[in-house]
Amino acid sequence: MNIYSLTRDEMEEYFISHGSKKFHADQLFSWLYEKRISSVSEITDIKKDMLEQLERAFSFSKLKLVTVERDVDVCKYLFELYDGEHIEAVLMRHDYGNSVCVSSQVGCNMGCKFCESGRRKRVRNLEVYEMVIQLLMIEEDLGERISHVVVMGIGEPFDNYDNLLKFLLIINHPKGLAIGARHITVSTCGIVPKILEFSEFPLQINLAISLHAPNDTLRDKIMPINKAYPLKELISALEVYLSRTNRRITFEYIMLSGVNDSVECAKELVELVGHLNCYVNLIPYNETNNLEFKRSSTVQIMKFYDILKKNRLGVTIRREFGSKISAACGQLRSKKEEL
Ligand code: SAH
Repeated sequence: MNIYSLTRDEMEEYFISHGSKKFHADQLFSWLYEKRISSVSEITDIKKDMLEQLERAFSFSKLKLVTVERDVDVCKYLFELYDGEHIEAVLMRHDYGNSVCVSSQVGCNMGCKFCESGRRKRVRNLEVYEMVIQLLMIEEDLGERISHVVVMGIGEPFDNYDNLLKFLLIINHPKGLAIGARHITVSTCGIVPKILEFSEFPLQINLAISLHAPNDTLRDKIMPINKAYPLKELISALEVYLSRTNRRITFEYIMLSGVNDSVECAKELVELVGHLNCYVNLIPYNETNNLEFKRSSTVQIMKFYDILKKNRLGVTIRREFGSKISAACGQLRSKKEEL
């Protein structure tokens, strides 16, 4: 077990169940996340025999940073895991702060037709610490704080639900990485039971839904998950989510030329989500090796945008990051693994 997998509450339980004091949890959190120790020997305010016990029970090691590709306002980090697998995370520098896109699984089983990341099936879920340490090591490399996190890298976060929640608790905790819940976004392709569960999670995390199609016929074709949870079920789960949380959700909609970018689709989209407290993020498709899909023209994107706007839907067009270094949405497959 790696120490960076433990939430603050779990640490308290650990100390109590080992005949020690629960306030050590705060101290240990502060050593790990404020002082950023690299070994147990640096800890000065916990008794020696307790420290020895901790060292026996937990690994304090981080990941191996293999490479960093740097561009003006974006960096891609490639990490190696204990079993030789690789994951990627992307840092984006915005004027409002540093935002990191983290991966949640090795590979992905959702099989979205346009997505490069899913070409490799899920090998395993990431452990909590493997997600937490992506952030710690990027902060270390950067020498600056990460202010925003999006769980939009490789993997389906709601397919690794328990670890995801612990990760969120640790990075949000004031003595952890102290990243405000409203600065954290989890993106899902629409796993309905988990959306319902997530609506009861106490932190005010943002939820984004990868929608990409306004009707079942089309969504079935490009996102196999739609066969398990068709739009009617998805939308009614989101209605429950919205009524429980009073929050606003984001719909992500990739613009695929000739597939989902027609005027007709825009109107259907208004019909589908117009009654919800939401906004739509139009994403220019990052073309990949998959020749089946092409990016919509700017003219077509603007036409689509105008229809949503005229119908009073909140809509934005996503700024593009990282296409030069293959760190753009859906392109996170390390070159290493393509070989
Ligand atoms: N599994 C989660 C999170 C990872 S994908 C989800 O589906 O939301 C993050 C976002 O990038 C999703 O909206 C995904 O559909 C989108 N995406 C995948 N490939 C893309 C590409 N080539 N260009 C633009 N966006 C892409």
